[in-house]
Amino acid sequence: MTDSNARTLEGLTYFQRTFGCQMNENDAERVAGLLDMAGCLPVSTLEEADIAIYLTCCVREAADIRLMGQVASMKNIPPAHKGLPRIVAVGGCIGQRDGARLQETLPNVDIVFGTHNIGHLPSLIQQRISSGMAVAETLESSEEFVKGLPERRATSWHAWVPIMTGCNNFCTYCIVPYVRGRETSRPLEDIENELDHLAAEGVQEVTLLGQNVNSYGRDLYGRPRFKEVLDYAGSCGIPRIRFVTSHPKDLSTETIAAMAAHEAIMPQLHLPLQSGSDRILAEMHRVYTVEKYLETVHMLREAIPDISLSTDIIVGFPGETEEDFQGTLKVVREVGYGQAFTFIYSKREGTPAAEIVDTTPAEVIQDRFDRLVELVQESVHRENEKELNKTLPVLVEGVSKRDAHMFSGKSPKNQTVHAPIPAGLTMDDLVGTIQNVRIDVTKTWYLQGTLVE
Ligand code: SF4
Repeated sequence: MTDSNARTLEGLTYFQRTFGCQMNENDAERVAGLLDMAGCLPVSTLEEADIAIYLTCCVREAADIRLMGQVASMKNIPPAHKGLPRIVAVGGCIGQRDGARLQETLPNVDIVFGTHNIGHLPSLIQQRISSGMAVAETLESSEEFVKGLPERRATSWHAWVPIMTGCNNFCTYCIVPYVRGRETSRPLEDIENELDHLAAEGVQEVTLLGQNVNSYGRDLYGRPRFKEVLDYAGSCGIPRIRFVTSHPKDLSTETIAAMAAHEAIMPQLHLPLQSGSDRILAEMHRVYTVEKYLETVHMLREAIPDISLSTDIIVGFPGETEEDFQGTLKVVREVGYGQAFTFIYSKREGTPAAEIVDTTPAEVIQDRFDRLVELVQESVHRENEKELNKTLPVLVEGVSKRDAHMFSGKSPKNQTVHAPIPAGLTMDDLVGTIQNVRIDVTKTWYLQGTLVE
């Protein structure tokens, strides 16, 4: 699905900006791979770029607004090279959702491409250059998992490995099934081959990606085969395996057993709760109850006692009452999350929830949100305190943003860990390696310690 006529792009510079989820980060690596293959050169600022590419997210309104503002203001930035007008390309979920309509709202957008046709981007750029006309191409869906696109990974030690795209769940607030399409799994052998290559390259951590990884394989094999993906990933020689996202309704006992069986599968799971009220969960079409969710948490903790759980929670879903919200607080207290992403409900046109009229005042929703954030922070801090005086293996990612004398990395539970760079070592020695750090400070947002042998 790549283009052969892309050589004529040789020498053009490009800059990418990515919004949203890990899927888009992985798509950005594919765009970089394609453009590098076409002879384009990556640059680190918009000002230096002949081609500006935006990979967008439409899950929340805020990201929509940010994109519109950033693209509109680009008109004021002079071209990188005299006489060569900058080409602006918008892809990802907003590209898929709006298609050519986006160019009516933002006339300076030259190219719109969808989530299923990233592989065509070089030829769309070529088309734009030769015709001088704006182009838009969004394929309705992809029957097969799009594979074989080149990638340029952001780091040498971490890789995203998409195992499926799309979602069949149609939660009533969510736009994803409309812009990413139905569940399309990647053949198991193909995933296994990629994992083998990454292991041979010395990659230290892989994140398996999919909107609903637990139902991996259902479309291809008639039954979910995520357990088999985990068994392979957990024993292929890559030290750390993570995966997102798990729908609670599809997390099977087989999958939990596979997680417990492999040391390489990190003791951390993202299990979106969304609400702690059965009534709201039903309105959201989440297909589980609070009781069922807590049973799953219990099973996970039985199998992996030290597991850290993270979650997503929406506050202010249309019609949410104080009683519903109290249910959410109760679950947060009971589960003890190590991390939680909290959001105020954002209406997305085209979804069933957007039709529900809600009269709850914004201040009431904001007050609930603030109370939730406070509770989550207490929970995260408590979970982090459990790491005090432990020695944790930390995958070093780079220099700490807080202090240039420290490095930062991630613990097995995905906590951020800072530690001083020891005398005699440089960041080149440390980045991408797993180092033992004894934890002597625990805060809400990070742990701090000292590198030990
Ligand atoms: S499971 Fe629900 S929230 Fe997640 S991507 Fe699918 S529809 Fe959206």
